[in-house]
Amino acid sequence: MLKTKLLFLLFVFPALLFAQKHYDIILRNGKIIDGAGNPWFYGDVGIKKDKIVRIGNLSRAKAKKIIDVSGLIIAPGFIDVHTHIEGDEKKTPTADNFIYDGVTTVITGNCGISEVDLKKYFKYLDSVKLSVNVGSLIGHNDVRKAVLGEAAIAPDSAQLKQMEAIVEQAMRDGAMGFSTGLIYTPGLYSKTDEVVALAKSAAKYHGVYTSHMRNESDKIFEAINEAIDIGRQANMPVEISHFKVGLPNWNKSDQMIAMVEKARAEGLDVTVDQYPYTASSTTLNVLLPDWLLDGGRDSVLKRLADPAIHQKVVDEMIRDMARRTRAHFDYAVVAHCEGDSTLNGKNIMQINIAKGRESTIPNEIETILDITKIGSASMVFHGMNEDDVENIMKYPLTAIISDSGIREFGVGVPHPRGYGSNARVLGLYVREKHLITLEDAVRKMTSLPAQKFHLAGRGLLQPGMYADIVVFDANTVKDESTFDHPHAYSTGFKYVLVNGQLTVDNFKHNGTRNGAILHGPGYEQNK
Ligand SMILES: [Zn+2]
Repeated sequence: MLKTKLLFLLFVFPALLFAQKHYDIILRNGKIIDGAGNPWFYGDVGIKKDKIVRIGNLSRAKAKKIIDVSGLIIAPGFIDVHTHIEGDEKKTPTADNFIYDGVTTVITGNCGISEVDLKKYFKYLDSVKLSVNVGSLIGHNDVRKAVLGEAAIAPDSAQLKQMEAIVEQAMRDGAMGFSTGLIYTPGLYSKTDEVVALAKSAAKYHGVYTSHMRNESDKIFEAINEAIDIGRQANMPVEISHFKVGLPNWNKSDQMIAMVEKARAEGLDVTVDQYPYTASSTTLNVLLPDWLLDGGRDSVLKRLADPAIHQKVVDEMIRDMARRTRAHFDYAVVAHCEGDSTLNGKNIMQINIAKGRESTIPNEIETILDITKIGSASMVFHGMNEDDVENIMKYPLTAIISDSGIREFGVGVPHPRGYGSNARVLGLYVREKHLITLEDAVRKMTSLPAQKFHLAGRGLLQPGMYADIVVFDANTVKDESTFDHPHAYSTGFKYVLVNGQLTVDNFKHNGTRNGAILHGPGYEQNK
């Protein structure tokens, strides 16, 4: 009897206490996919505060909240390393488009476009409090603008020093790395050596180099070479953003991937990311000659008012279309035109016809210049082919991204990628097309980007990791957003936790805003 009592006091009683107190939430009976690419297994996940504390059989453990997730997948929250949320934070701090697509972490500041003062930006983010974790890159274009404005000039050595100092400060303030957008002004005016110099400033603090390359169509191979060469010269990891190719280089994604593999064989850490669609989305300005954009909007309007320059623009754009082997601008759809919202959702060919003009390339170019004059537009370009999209998705080193901001529900006709990128991969490419396995898809959304961007403590389901977790039904998960009706959240995510807090509860965003600010590897050195 005494022995039994002693046993109880020594072992069972402490165990009971321990069990009662140990978890805030237990997700029970799920199919666990750990994010590393390993096969799913049955298990429970025990969460306390913002961390995962145990994974395994927790059938006898107690928690404040026990959620039975039988039949559902438990995976790490998705990490979207290619977003553009600047300006959206206050409008929609709940980041519904991301959360409903399973995304719990975003990296913003891509394509050379970022806040320049990241210390201030992180303070601002902290005051807004988003539903997702946020990290940021420091963007080349905005660094350049801060020193050189919009002009098509090269920096002198003092100006370059100034730009390097901005990049270094941003890295110490917690940037994840340095991003370029070499098709956008003013980044497109920079030579490779300028980018290398600035990349080196980020490399000092172990940042990653991400690039929207100089070209994604007729000069794709030169552009890939440049991105890799910048990594080589700056001695830093490279992430080629939204890896894709337009005409005339359709069906050459094998060669593109081979270049990445060759760089890796040389010892360069090059990886890529992708949004799973055959259309891209960006500004109408990318159709205009680079030199026309020199100096910004007022200069553009002044130039277009000169008939001789106007004709030169048209001639150059005609030659450009010939290089792209296209007969019409029907692949170019207006997503959002501030100056005339009736254009939203229509393509340039349709808009040109509606103006009573014949469907010729010169006339369609006039229509593009008309839109430029009323303030330009954001566009969706149906420019890729499905075989390349699938080929790139199958490549093991391709992460899944959205290239999106936080969507304002119902505003404009934006690219559906902002709502459905991850669910589309899981529904269309995993379940329907069997292109990749579920485990591999999850890896591309979690540990692959986490490793590349040095996101410690995230991207894997393991004890000690932050409890960023998604629970979804692999049989029903689906992107609902389409090009015609983009404003639709993905379905199938029953629970989403961010830093241990339920944010989607029984398929509904409950308004929780528990996202953290994630600092890059240079941040610690600043302390
Ligand atoms: Zn981009």
